[in-house]
Amino acid sequence: MPIYEFKCQACDHCFEKLVFVSEDEPVRCPKCNNADVKKQVSCASFIGASGLSRCAPGSRKGFS
Ligand SMILES: [Zn+2]
Repeated sequence: MPIYEFKCQACDHCFEKLVFVSEDEPVRCPKCNNADVKKQVSCASFIGASGLSRCAPGSRKGFS
């Protein structure tokens, strides 16, 4: 089962979601319920965005 990483365009929240082939529902941000999300290869490459809670723990330096 493929697990994709998504990033919410509204609040920059990164999350993973199981996506089934038969599933045709729009992916929504679990944080703000926004459907405007982008599929990511890896959330780790988006360090610096605000709201990251678990995608890049301990990797946020230089950002306030
Ligand atoms: Zn969101």
